[in-house]
Amino acid sequence: MTFNLQNNIQYVKGVGPKRAKLLHHLGIHTVRDILFYFPRDYINKITNKRIVDLKINDIASVRAKIVSYGYISKYKSTRFQLIISDGSGYLTCIWFKTTPWLEKQFEVGKEIIVLGRLKYYYNRLCMLHPDFEFVGSKLEESFWSKRNYLPLYPLTEGLTNKIFRKIILNIFKSEFRISETIPENIRIVQELLPINQALRKIHMPETEDDITLSRKRFVFEELFYLQLMLARRKVHWHKSEGISMQIKKTYTTQLKNILPFNLTSAQKRVLNEIVKDMKSPFQMNRLLQGDVGSGKTIIALFAMLLAIENGYQAAIMAPTEILATQHYFAITEFLKKIDVKIGLLLGGNYKGKKKLKEHISKGEIDIVIGTHSLIQKDVVFRKLGIVIIDEQHRFGVIQRHSLTQKGQVPDKIVMSATPIPRSLALTVYGDLDISIIDELPPNRKEIYTSWITEDKKPQVYNFINKEISKGRQVYVVCPLVEKSEKSYLRDATNTYEKLKSSVFRNHRVALLHGRMSNQEKDEIMHRFKDGRIDVLVSTTVIEVGIDVPNATIMLIEHAEHFGLSQLHQLRGRVGRGAFKSYCILAAYEPISEEALLRLNTMKETNDGFKISEIDLEIRGPGEFFGTEQSGMPRFRIANIVRDREILEQAHKIAFQIIAEDYDLELERHKLIKEKYQKEFLKRERLFSF
Ligand code: ADP
Ligand code: MG
Repeated sequence: MTFNLQNNIQYVKGVGPKRAKLLHHLGIHTVRDILFYFPRDYINKITNKRIVDLKINDIASVRAKIVSYGYISKYKSTRFQLIISDGSGYLTCIWFKTTPWLEKQFEVGKEIIVLGRLKYYYNRLCMLHPDFEFVGSKLEESFWSKRNYLPLYPLTEGLTNKIFRKIILNIFKSEFRISETIPENIRIVQELLPINQALRKIHMPETEDDITLSRKRFVFEELFYLQLMLARRKVHWHKSEGISMQIKKTYTTQLKNILPFNLTSAQKRVLNEIVKDMKSPFQMNRLLQGDVGSGKTIIALFAMLLAIENGYQAAIMAPTEILATQHYFAITEFLKKIDVKIGLLLGGNYKGKKKLKEHISKGEIDIVIGTHSLIQKDVVFRKLGIVIIDEQHRFGVIQRHSLTQKGQVPDKIVMSATPIPRSLALTVYGDLDISIIDELPPNRKEIYTSWITEDKKPQVYNFINKEISKGRQVYVVCPLVEKSEKSYLRDATNTYEKLKSSVFRNHRVALLHGRMSNQEKDEIMHRFKDGRIDVLVSTTVIEVGIDVPNATIMLIEHAEHFGLSQLHQLRGRVGRGAFKSYCILAAYEPISEEALLRLNTMKETNDGFKISEIDLEIRGPGEFFGTEQSGMPRFRIANIVRDREILEQAHKIAFQIIAEDYDLELERHKLIKEKYQKEFLKRERLFSF
C-alpha cells in the first residue's frame, strides 16, 4: 500500500476517530503532519546507569524493578512516588501531578526503564516526572523491543508514546516518498541526510549517529528557511524607497556643541552608521544595542534631530509611562537651549492631551515621546520622519508596525535595553541592520557586586548608613508590592514601613511602586532625583531608564528570585555618577542551583553581553524575552542555543543565496523556491514593513 501523505490521519491503522481527535490537539491532521512531528527525546536501552553511580544533574536512563509506589501527602500537597531498585541502590521517581492512568500502569516487580534528570529533593536523589518505559513481555515481541532507542513524543492526555510508535511504524510499513527540500549541493557541503532517510532515522534510530544526523538535517532545514525569509526581508528593505535626509548642521551641531561630554568612539561609530542610513534614499531599519548605561538615548536624540532639521517629526515609544517620562525629562534637559518642541503623550484621559494631539497633527511638535498611546488611531503626525522604539521586545510586532505606519516611510531604530546574544539577534532581528555600542563612557567605575544571606544584613545596613551620611542615595528593590498570602517574599510596602522606623529612621525613606498613580510616582521620582529622599524602597518599576547619578547603592531583596538580565538592568541604575557604587544582592533560602549561578555571575561580571549569553543559556530562547509576541519564532526542532553552529551555517548560506538570487530563479534553487513559496511567502509579506 502507498500512502497519500495528505490523507486524513484518522484512517491510518491504529488511529480511528477518537485518537484522531487527540492528535488534532497536537496539530496533527494528516499523515504528513505526524511524520514531521518529531520526537523530543529518546529512551536509550543500552547506556543504562547503575543507580549507585548516579550523580546530581545527570540525565540518565536507569533500568530497574519496581519496589513500591503510591501517594504521599504532606503540607496539603500530594505527590506520587515510585521507588525502583536495580540491586545497586534505590531510586525515587516523583510526580507532582498525576492521572489515575499513570498509577494504573505500575506493578511491583515489573521491570521499567526511567529517563530523566537527577535532582536533590526530600534529602535524596530523585527523578522528577521522568519518562518511562516497561520492559514487559508483550513489548518484547514487538518491533520496538529489538530497538535500543525508543522515541518520546510531546504528548497530550490520552495519547502515549506507545500509541505514537505504533502509528509511525504503520506508516513506515507502507511506501511513500517525500520530496526533497534542500538541494543536493548544500546537503553535501553541510553533511545533511536526504529527507526520506532522515525521516526514518529520526523516528526509528538504530544508533546515536542516526539521532544526531537526522536531527541536524531538520534543524538545518528549519533554520535555513527562516534565515532565507529574514534575508529576503532585509534585501526588501534595502530596496524600499525612504527619506533621504541631509546633514544641515543646525540642531545636530547645536547639540554637539553644548553636550557636556564627548561621545565614546563606539557611540561615534554607531552614529555614523545611523546617519549613513538616514542619508541614503532607502528606509532605515536598525537595531541599536548596547549595555545599560552605554548611552543609547543620546544617539537616538542625534538621529531625531537630524530628521527634525530636515523638516520631519520624530517619535519615540517606550513600554512604560515611567520610562517615557524619564526620556521626556532627559531629552528636555539636553535640548533646553535648542529650539525644538517636545511633547509627552501618555495613556488615559488627562487635561491638555487633546491639545497636544492637535499640535502633533499640525506639525507643531517636533519630538513626540510616549507609550502605546502613540499608536492610537487619533494620533496623527503631519510629517513623521523617524521612529524610535525603546525596549523593542516589550512591544509586539504589530505595535511596532503601527507606529511606523504613522509616517510614509519613516526611518526606524529599535533599541534594546538588554544586550541580545548573537544567536537570538540572528533569529529575531536577522532582517535588521545591527549597531552595537560596545563601550561604556569613561569615568564609569565597575559596580562592586556581592551577594549575601540574611545574617549579613546588619553589616549591610551599617554600610548603607555610612554612605547616606556621605550624601549618597540608595535603592532597595523588593519583588512584590504588598504581602500576599501565598508568598513568603518580602514586599516593598512592609520593607518600607520597617526600614523607615528602624535602621533608617534618621533618614528620609520613600516608597515607589506600580500601583501608585502616575502623579504620585512622578513626584517621588522627582524628589529622589533632587536628593530629597535618601532611601527609595521600590518594586522593579525602577528597572529601566531611571538616571540618578548620586544613587550609589542598589540593595535587591530576594535576588534569588530575579532573572539574570533583570538583575543586571537593576544594577545599571547605580554607577551612573562619579562615586563608587555597590550592588548588594540579598538572597534567602531555598536558593536553587540556577539562582546560585545567577548570583555568582552577577558577582563575577559587569559585562552585559556576557550576562545575556548566560541568561539565554539558563532560560532558553523561549523565555529570554518573556513575551509571546516578541517575534521569537516557535521552532519545531531547532534550539538556537544548542544548535548555534548550525544556525550560523544556515544564516550564511541563506544570505548568500538571497544576495545572489533574490527571486530564487536559478535552476539550482528550484527546490528551495517551491518550499519557500508554499510555506514562507505569506509570512514574509505579513512582516514586510
Ligand atoms: P542607556 O540608555 O544605554 O542605558 P543612557 O543613554 O541612559 O544609557 O546613558 C546613561 C548616562 O550616561 C546618561 O546620563 C547619559 O547622559 C550619559 N552618557 C551618555 N553618553 C555619554 C558619554 N559619552 N560620556 C559620558 N556620559 C555619557
Ligand atoms: Mg536608555
